[in-house]
Amino acid sequence: MTSHGPSRIDLLRIRVKRALGLSVILCDSCKWNWRSACHRRERPHATWCPDYSKKGS
Ligand code: SF4
Repeated sequence: MTSHGPSRIDLLRIRVKRALGLSVILCDSCKWNWRSACHRRERPHATWCPDYSKKGS
């Protein structure tokens, strides 16, 4: 089975981060945050992304 969206845990994590005033945008810290590297429509404002990979990892 493949996942097509954020899990309930992911959604909860986003809500908690928003409530704490933390940034919920993933692209800012993603190593694919380049026009030529990422063609997702969500970029640069993705709050959930299956391709997210932290910069420097
Ligand atoms: S892979 Fe996902 S998180 Fe990374 S830049 Fe693209 S849309 Fe943003």
